[in-house]
Amino acid sequence: ELVRASSLYTVHTPVPAGHDYFDESLFGKYMGGYPQMLGISWDEFIGMGRTNPDDHSERFCMSTFACNTCQEVNGVSKLHGWVSQRMFAPIWKGYYPEESHVGYVTNGVHFPTWTATEWRKVYDKYFDETFLSDQSNESIWHSIYNVPDAEIWETRMALKKKLVDYIREKFAATWLKNQGDPSRVVTLLESITPNALYIGFCRRFATYKRAHLLFTDLERLSKIVNNPERPVKFIFSGKAHPADGAGQGLIKRIFEISQRPEFLGKIIFLEDYDMELARRLVSGVDIWMNTPTRPLEASGTSGEKAEMNGVVNLSVLDGWWVEGYRQGAGWALKQERTYQNQGYQDQLDAATIYSLLENEILPLFYNRNEQGFSEGWIKTIKNSIATIAPHYTMKRQLDDYYDKFYIKEAANFKKLAANNNRLAKELAAWKETVAQRWDSIRVVSKDDSMLYSAETGKKYTLRYVIDEQGLNDAIGLELVSIKTGKDGEERIFSKREFDVVAHEGNNYTFEATFEPDVAGSFKSCVRMYPKNENLVYREDFCYVKWLD
Ligand SMILES: *Cc1c(COP(=O)(O)O)cnc(C)c1O
Repeated sequence: ELVRASSLYTVHTPVPAGHDYFDESLFGKYMGGYPQMLGISWDEFIGMGRTNPDDHSERFCMSTFACNTCQEVNGVSKLHGWVSQRMFAPIWKGYYPEESHVGYVTNGVHFPTWTATEWRKVYDKYFDETFLSDQSNESIWHSIYNVPDAEIWETRMALKKKLVDYIREKFAATWLKNQGDPSRVVTLLESITPNALYIGFCRRFATYKRAHLLFTDLERLSKIVNNPERPVKFIFSGKAHPADGAGQGLIKRIFEISQRPEFLGKIIFLEDYDMELARRLVSGVDIWMNTPTRPLEASGTSGEKAEMNGVVNLSVLDGWWVEGYRQGAGWALKQERTYQNQGYQDQLDAATIYSLLENEILPLFYNRNEQGFSEGWIKTIKNSIATIAPHYTMKRQLDDYYDKFYIKEAANFKKLAANNNRLAKELAAWKETVAQRWDSIRVVSKDDSMLYSAETGKKYTLRYVIDEQGLNDAIGLELVSIKTGKDGEERIFSKREFDVVAHEGNNYTFEATFEPDVAGSFKSCVRMYPKNENLVYREDFCYVKWLD
């Protein structure tokens, strides 16, 4: 009870490869001694890692185990919290995903680590001096609008130059050694200059991130990157997991495309992605791109690093970008899928990106004034720094963890641990008693016929008498109305608690009023559950009976 009360599990991805499963035999080989140390049986132990604890064919899942042994669970963006509620719903039987206690804290990035020195200087000069300790205060960030456009542009160009120099220096030797044909490598190196719009796609090569999306229509892409009036270059970088053959295949394909004559020096693949290279890229390119398969991007945190460096995002509305995107401060591909067929969806998303580049992004970037930069582009940068960056720092993230989880868990732990763990022991004993008697707790009598024949506009009283088998007011009842949505999914429409109105021996009488308002369009059921004020969530002790 104590460990559980003070533990928080942060789930980081809905992708199956991110959730470890172990066969019972392998798990037993390494964990066999634990149940005895803990004073529980092997089946109880391994059952904590199963969605159906008694199903011996089910493997032990670390994520399920974490859900069962942590008081709180969170995803890493608002949408990912919603996705995780659905992913973990089978663990808490009898409850609907929208009732789930699984919450979220949207990822943030550490401002001093990820902001280039050049930008730090700009912020020091124009922002309030309390800035570093008050990073979530958007009004301070609005001072970016006081920075002259030319200073923003010079800062960007200085960092772009740094990136270009870094690439030419770092990769010259490797490319000369590995790519043969020295004259071609020299041409490639010389073509990497700051005079182009640079778009970065740099991240792990997990297939759901769709690094290949840009290459859906090579002819159209070739026209875009080979327009001498509006040069644009794409930089790809990233590693695939050693066991991810498909991810490695994507790197191979992108590398091959980058070597074709029409893409040489326009599509550039950089090996050995690491924090150092990431730091150069998130501050050196003009646009940071992300194209995940919806809704599999939990956060896509690297896009937040770009924000504080005046680099704007072009991304699918997934992960953090659903919350982060503001009009006039970057570009978004819409959140909803148009096609169930992934091939069609890929084609549509690719076409959307080409069209955004051709019709919006490149015309805006190359609409240059006599000083040599686009005022519209600088406006986009300023908007994104002023309105997006303040909400994605580690400061905001930590504040959220404290407000949503840490403070609550610390208080609960203290409460349970007080007086030599009195409440923790009581709660554990109470759970054991309820579990033993649960199957014999029964409905003695009920008056619920109106659930099936109620008329709208009238008021009814539902009455249940429950034999609690010697438990002292340990049972709760609630009336749950369920509506079937247009998508065919059942959702909770309303809930109403019953009151205990009388108590005689083991028998408790429960009453609730019932006022049907939309006849026929929903069904109403009564749900019974163990009730204890020291349970933070009902799912913590997940016994549920639907009474019919
Ligand atoms: C920030 C960062 C990541 C995570 O960002 P995603 O957008 O989720 O890929 C991965 N790798 C490196 C080197 C990073 O700096």
